[in-house]
Amino acid sequence: MKYLLALTLFAFSLNAENVACPDNILLEVYPDQNACELFHSIPHDLQQIPYAIYPICKGYDTARFNFNKRFNIFPHAIFTPRCEDELVHLFKKLKKHHLKFSLRSGGHCIEPGSLTSGYVVDMRHFDDIIPDVEHEEVYVGAGCRLGKVINTIGKLDYAIPTGTCTSVGVTGLTLGGGLGVLGRIFGLTCDSVKSIRLLTADGKIIDVDHHNHPDLFWALRGAGNGSYGIVIGFTFKMHYVPHVSTLRLSWKWDRKTVHEVFDAWQCWIKTLPGNISSQLQLKYLNNKLLVRVVGLKVGKSCFNEWKKAFKHLRPKVKIETGSYLDSAPEWADRSPFPFFKSKSQMLNKSLSHEPINTAIDFFEKLKAEHSKYYAFFELEAMGGKIPDAHTAFFPRRAESWWYEVLYWDNENLEQTALHKLRTFQCDIAPYVSKHAYANIVDYDIHNYLDVYYGNHVNRLMHIKRTYDPHNLFHWRQSIPTCEE
Ligand SMILES: Cc1cc2nc3c(=O)[nH]c(=O)nc-3n(C[C@H](O)[C@H](O)[C@H](O)COP(=O)(O)OP(=O)(O)OC[C@H]3O[C@@H](n4cnc5c(N)ncnc54)[C@H](O)[C@@H]3O)c2cc1C
Repeated sequence: MKYLLALTLFAFSLNAENVACPDNILLEVYPDQNACELFHSIPHDLQQIPYAIYPICKGYDTARFNFNKRFNIFPHAIFTPRCEDELVHLFKKLKKHHLKFSLRSGGHCIEPGSLTSGYVVDMRHFDDIIPDVEHEEVYVGAGCRLGKVINTIGKLDYAIPTGTCTSVGVTGLTLGGGLGVLGRIFGLTCDSVKSIRLLTADGKIIDVDHHNHPDLFWALRGAGNGSYGIVIGFTFKMHYVPHVSTLRLSWKWDRKTVHEVFDAWQCWIKTLPGNISSQLQLKYLNNKLLVRVVGLKVGKSCFNEWKKAFKHLRPKVKIETGSYLDSAPEWADRSPFPFFKSKSQMLNKSLSHEPINTAIDFFEKLKAEHSKYYAFFELEAMGGKIPDAHTAFFPRRAESWWYEVLYWDNENLEQTALHKLRTFQCDIAPYVSKHAYANIVDYDIHNYLDVYYGNHVNRLMHIKRTYDPHNLFHWRQSIPTCEE
């Protein structure tokens, strides 16, 4: 009651003139006690920020969640600055009060790396996209999602090599590397970055590129997530892609066929020309199992390269030609469920029969149990034209990478899901490299520095000491100032 009264008085004390945030201030009619307590524990000069979503605000319960709904976290406030001045002002206040904060752009971190029970700095309003066809470059604000980028520059017949799940944020994807269907053709997302606009720990905005702060530029491309500053936007090189063809080969599931598809695909990717990329996918949903190979070819010529490798396995074949923009929906994997856990491995050589068997067992067991999970495992070819670029992305010379994700729609299924994935991981560990992809954040990995960044770790920590000596930008798997 006390809280309700206080809150009501607070509400009456506000009007459209003296409160800059009339849209979102207040107001659930009976906000719960915790929301009021949280709100009142915020320092006074941060209690009336016009671009804040407070626990007592309408919209808070949506805004506090990331894409992965597993993490039920209650931040003190979510700040969504709308311009650089507001961002700088906010950052200075957070610093002055020594407040713990996280950075969020697209909210697709797989673990709660962009969430905290402290304060969330959410970059959603930095969502400009400014293409410059003459110079074949595009400015992309930190808050943009992939869908908007693919659409905006796709209409001009240009592309950036990104992932294709449209709601993923450009920022997290790029700062961790960025692997996707155009990767073998144009490199990683971070390889197309020309410059990065960044708010640094000393409160200054700088432009970082090959000539200005080159060490920081190196670190931000592959190990930049939440460690070195707040990214405001990127300038990317755009690639002209007027024509592509997509390929989809699918089979009815049986153990022998899945083995043959793996063998054929693993041989095939060793001979693939640089303008073709491909993924091998295993899926389980609604008691159905699926194995398929998908591919993307840049250029006008027919997509015939699959025949030599797969014709004898008699797949169902679908080939389509068109623009990259037309092809994008083909790549997006949509889950019907809100909770998930993912793992990844970088593979330096082909998988042997043992781990393939383990994967087949994993899927067949889900079916035998009439399981309610959705499982999606994807092997993606690397190599091709992925350059030996000088960036912090470590496993450049991998042959492929493996991404495993398990989704569920009921919190009671979580423990079993985690157990299933962890057991799978243990079983395949002897057959795969110890390295994983930094963007598939996995809190089960304790020695994450070595696993994600290999022999780049010392250099990354050195750069961290230079630009953020007091470790203002940190989360559970960020780059520390020294080995802990
Ligand atoms: C459904 C799905 C599909 C995916 N597909 C792909 C794929 O095809 N290819 C691929 O490479 N990856 C893929 N990923 C992984 C994805 O790249 C990472 O999850 C990425 O970090 C998401 O970025 P975000 O901006 O959406 O995330 P956020 O949750 O906003 O942030 C992720 C990380 O970036 C940091 N960060 C956020 N904003 C800033 C900022 N402004 N400045 C500095 N640091 C910041 C945060 O601290 C956090 O550590 C996928 C993930 C999901 C959930």
